[in-house]
Amino acid sequence: MEAKITLLPGDGIGPEIVGATTKVFDAIAAKYGHTFNYSEHLMGGIAIDEMNNPLPEETLGACLESDAIMLGAVGGPKWDDPTAKIRPEQGLLRLRKELAVFANLRPVKIFDALADASPLKPERVKGVDIMFVRELTGGIYFGTPRGRETTADGLRSGFDTLRYDENEIARILRVGFELARQRRGKLTSVDKANVLTTMQVWREVAHEVAKEYPDVEYEDILVDAMAMYLINRPADFDVVVTGNMFGDILSDAASMITGSLGMLPSAAVGASGSVGLFEPIHGSAPDIAGKGIANPLATIMSGAMLLRLGLGLEDEATAVENAVSQVLADGHRTGDLGGGEAALGTDAMTDKVLEALD
Ligand code: NAD
Repeated sequence: MEAKITLLPGDGIGPEIVGATTKVFDAIAAKYGHTFNYSEHLMGGIAIDEMNNPLPEETLGACLESDAIMLGAVGGPKWDDPTAKIRPEQGLLRLRKELAVFANLRPVKIFDALADASPLKPERVKGVDIMFVRELTGGIYFGTPRGRETTADGLRSGFDTLRYDENEIARILRVGFELARQRRGKLTSVDKANVLTTMQVWREVAHEVAKEYPDVEYEDILVDAMAMYLINRPADFDVVVTGNMFGDILSDAASMITGSLGMLPSAAVGASGSVGLFEPIHGSAPDIAGKGIANPLATIMSGAMLLRLGLGLEDEATAVENAVSQVLADGHRTGDLGGGEAALGTDAMTDKVLEALD
């Protein structure tokens, strides 16, 4: 196939890890007979410095015209002032909105070779392989009315609105059910239907959508119980679908089960045919930027998600994931994975993945 991939390296370690992933794409293209055409654009802090805009129009245009987008990370101390008018993450929020990517997919998978890195006991995390599907463009982060006011007693108060309509609920659940079909055939919908009216609608719609997928095992779990189960029986879950705020909190907590931030990929996708955005969950790691020691694996694994979900290249995606597993099983480690004195740098780790792909 021929595909257009937009590269947005961003700030900090972004250029190093996106560069590493491009090498992996090149190896896949050569091995499977594809042509990937890259176009690289400014985004985040560097775009503020050069164009006074964290998402220049030219960058957005290139993203909308491409088949998939590979992002490094944005931000850093230079642009971190929360009161600044123009900030790097505004570019990211606008890009997600313009792409209409309403589903955030975050796999949380324990590589056997890294089970010791988990803060949980190895026997508890063995076999953990969860796909979090978080609704990304609705819910309490976007609901109106919202605001601040002073009560009749002169007290400051704030309010937000949790609102979901049935279409928003059904479409995110369908993303989850489709993924469950390609995985182990189980879906958990997380809500708070015992207290929140919005979540009663969520549960009602979830049950209706579940009827369309009789081949997928379905369950509802209340968010507070889910927080406990993620710690005491994380290996029981396959696909977990949640709203925006619950997903934000639970997926961050779940990501720590692996114990290695440098290993976790993510994707943001929309309706079929729309352009997906693929990025590691970690930030721009300014403390190690430019040193050549960043772990490239989270971005390479995000690249595997790009191949599978963005371009429909299942075998190629699996090949990349298997290569990463192989490299870890062979004992290769970057510094953040406890490599110690023998730790590999970004380039050396990337070379190991390329060798394993061969
Ligand atoms: P961070 O994820 O950048 O770093 C946290 C710690 O993990 C650091 O010690 C860092 O060195 C380490 N780390 C992260 N990724 C690594 C990798 N691939 N290999 C080895 N070590 C790695 O989080 P932070 O320090 O809170 O944020 C730094 C900047 O990144 C901030 O400006 C923040 O706003 C931004 N950020 C951006 C995104 C994004 O672009 N989506 C996400 C989170 C944070």
